[in-house]
Amino acid sequence: MPPPKKSRRRPKSFLTCPQCGSADLYYEAALITGYKYHCKKCGYIGPFVIERDLTDEEVGE
Ligand SMILES: [Zn+2]
Repeated sequence: MPPPKKSRRRPKSFLTCPQCGSADLYYEAALITGYKYHCKKCGYIGPFVIERDLTDEEVGE
């Protein structure tokens, strides 16, 4: 049996802001409310973000 094909790249995904779509998010831990994300661009703070897959064009190392 031939070995399984290696994919050139692993699929990647990233998180985007539900308000402005920016991927410029950072993750914050808040002791009382739990974890949440903070968008640098629009200032959104909350637990909900949108996970997106990278397209080939966006995958650049
Ligand atoms: Zn935002």
